[in-house]
Amino acid sequence: MTELTAANLRSLFQAIGDAIEADKGRLSELDGVIGDADHGVTMSIGFTAVNEALGKLDPGADPTTVFNTAAKSFLNAVGASSGPLYGTAFMRAGAAVKGKATIDRDALADCIAAMAKGMQDRGKAERGEKTMMDAWLPAADAIQAAKARGDGAVACLGAALAAAAEGAEATKAMLATKGRASRLGERALGHIDPGAASAVTILKAMTEAVRKL
Ligand code: ADP
Ligand code: MG
Repeated sequence: MTELTAANLRSLFQAIGDAIEADKGRLSELDGVIGDADHGVTMSIGFTAVNEALGKLDPGADPTTVFNTAAKSFLNAVGASSGPLYGTAFMRAGAAVKGKATIDRDALADCIAAMAKGMQDRGKAERGEKTMMDAWLPAADAIQAAKARGDGAVACLGAALAAAAEGAEATKAMLATKGRASRLGERALGHIDPGAASAVTILKAMTEAVRKL
């Protein structure tokens, strides 16, 4: 990959949608243990809406418009907690690439960092509270560190993915203090947070899609 075009960004959303669709059952099962068993369904509804809206978008739309369209359609389609979290994340990613015709390695790292920051501003969860932030915040730190080391885009995303996977695994040992799982107390121990798991699915799909470009 040299730089992602707006068309590449659309295909990235398609790849994420396909990966979420394939992982839907597992994500809802994870949510069934510590939440209300809908996380796979909510994420699938969200990305289906995103890809439908992107399908109708002017082919010449720039990356910011692609992200803003994704943000609005995800937010409108998803009533669950993940709706406003990903809605804000995509809106911030759009702002991070404002005025750019393409997304290079640095802008890609900035997008991931802006997404994580946006989610945290919106949901107010800190690291260690057993939420998707336990995957997205380490991913953002790792991609910024990889960028600073001079890694290429695929290696940068690979670093974010590895950090997110480690963070998601670590949620097993956490008590939830935000979201539905916070009602469970110690019964949430031993189980991966579904939002952290879907963050890994998203980053994996992104890494694989960018590797193929
Ligand atoms: P709901 O909990 O409304 O059913 P989902 O099932 O789609 O929504 O998403 C659940 C996930 O949302 C949780 O696994 C957790 O990762 C994430 N989550 C919940 N509240 C917050 C928050 N305040 N900040 C970040 N993530 C959160
Ligand atoms: Mg749920």
